[in-house]
Amino acid sequence: MGLIESLTTENRKRLEAIATEKRTILGFKAYEPLPAEVLTEHFQVKIFTEETVPNAESEQIKLLFNSNSCSAVILPTKPLWIVHNSRHTPVRQQSNLMHEFAHIILNHKMVGFDAKTGLPQRRQQDEDEAIYLGGCLQIPRRGLIWAKQKKMNLSQVALHFNASEEMVRFRSNVNGIFLNC
Ligand SMILES: [Zn+2]
Repeated sequence: MGLIESLTTENRKRLEAIATEKRTILGFKAYEPLPAEVLTEHFQVKIFTEETVPNAESEQIKLLFNSNSCSAVILPTKPLWIVHNSRHTPVRQQSNLMHEFAHIILNHKMVGFDAKTGLPQRRQQDEDEAIYLGGCLQIPRRGLIWAKQKKMNLSQVALHFNASEEMVRFRSNVNGIFLNC
């Protein structure tokens, strides 16, 4: 994840604060894992996988997900649909969904449609922000501090927050909070 330099320190602080605010509204403390299902309910979004998405969209999405270039996508329906890749590990699926919820929270607009796939496209800056905010929602900075105080190691933190070890490592690095391996 090479997005650390692309986001300013202020922007990262802003995104962390947005995650804290959202978690507070939803009644989740920093040390509590936030399941993507809670956000699904909160935003009244419909979640599909490439296998369950209804007809009209399915062929296009299957192709996209087969090539493995896609983790998840928001379709601009009402209510919004998120289609996510069912072949990713369960913890990765959680991150993929958090990423899409981050786009929704930040009210990111689509900037057009990919000529090949016909699916919505976004600005790179918006992508970077969504990656960052998705991570903050899943593992807040204060949650990481809590885990460090509890002397939890990397895999324990991953298990606790239902996140991938890669995500824990990323959050750990950007926050300068280092856990035992
Ligand atoms: Zn995105």
